Amino acid sequence: MLTETFKRLLPETPAFVYDQTAIDQILLRFKEATGESGPKLLYSVKSFPFLPLLRRIAPYVDGFSASSLFEAKLCAEALAGRGSLHITTPGFRPGEIEEIGRLCDFISFNSLGQFDRWAERVEGTASVGLRVNPQRSFLPDPRYDPCRPYSKLGVPLDHLAGAGRMERLQGLHFHTVFDCAGFGPLVETLAELENKLGEDLKRLRWINLGGGYRLDRELEHMAGLSTRLQHDYGLDVYFEPGKAVTGPAGYLVASVIDVFGSGGKTVAILDSSINHHPEVFEYQRSPRLAESCGEGEERAILAGATCLAGDLFGEYTLPVPPRIGDRLVFKDVGAYTLVKANRFNGHNLPSIYRWDGKVLYLEQSYGYQDYRQQWAGEPGRQ
Ligand SMILES: *Cc1c(COP(=O)(O)O)cnc(C)c1O
Repeated sequence: MLTETFKRLLPETPAFVYDQTAIDQILLRFKEATGESGPKLLYSVKSFPFLPLLRRIAPYVDGFSASSLFEAKLCAEALAGRGSLHITTPGFRPGEIEEIGRLCDFISFNSLGQFDRWAERVEGTASVGLRVNPQRSFLPDPRYDPCRPYSKLGVPLDHLAGAGRMERLQGLHFHTVFDCAGFGPLVETLAELENKLGEDLKRLRWINLGGGYRLDRELEHMAGLSTRLQHDYGLDVYFEPGKAVTGPAGYLVASVIDVFGSGGKTVAILDSSINHHPEVFEYQRSPRLAESCGEGEERAILAGATCLAGDLFGEYTLPVPPRIGDRLVFKDVGAYTLVKANRFNGHNLPSIYRWDGKVLYLEQSYGYQDYRQQWAGEPGRQ
């Protein structure tokens, strides 16, 4: 089994392993299932903006999508002139907008105000659009629902229709779901858009459908939607998944460094922490554990190594009692893990390894100097 291989081969833990073959397969399957008529595929880099990965997949995607100047710079470096670079963010700043305009090919402003202030300054080098908020909510948790009440993300469709900006717009962008298993919400959202904007859609050159959808089913459906938009409105269609590309390909491998009883339960302390996978704490999502089994009596609380009482991965059922030195593997943690990781308590970040189907390659490691750099009080680094 793959996770057993990782445990055997890794020289140290904690380690983050990403399976290059899994990412290649996801991208290839998308291209095969959607074909020429499918949407142009961008990788939304924020879930794992790892430069070696970006360089490697650049030939297999139509471009990248970024959320900030720094991400855009990293993407531009990886693209090295090929593919297209898209950006949208509520956080465009006055001092950055020209540089963003030079780096990015497509800019979707987040509000009518942003558009009015800055469209002119980037129109010479980028294709300018707006992020709209279709006001159709599909998520149970407002913390990650872009269409929550009083949302800060995108121009409400109600405001756009009749705002007199359609003539100058080249494209529209929306992004409304997270970890969504089917394209039903996309169908509803497009219907809303067509209903509110109608023939105005024909004025545009492109539409960006955002990300947030899983890519493990119904890809033909996506191809059909894209074909219809191209046919009915003459639009170039872009799609920018993040988690669907990297999530299933990532593993966090940790070692047990202590085991004891507490109030009648077994607690195993790992050499990692939820600071290496903050979504556990943020959204109370217990990551899948490769070793956990449905049956068995050996329950253990897997805890992180920091001083925070709530630094807990969760309670899992294991085939055998955990022992010091055991290695455990959390699965499907390729997205939004290291990008949010921190060095709370001074614990080092996991090293990053790439699996190519045969060999594990160490691609990044951190040490005391990286920790010191963060806190050294030495200004001036660009
Ligand atoms: C985060 C984000 C994505 C990617 O979302 P995933 O859930 O990782 O697929 C795409 N577009 C925008 C605008 C985003 O904010």
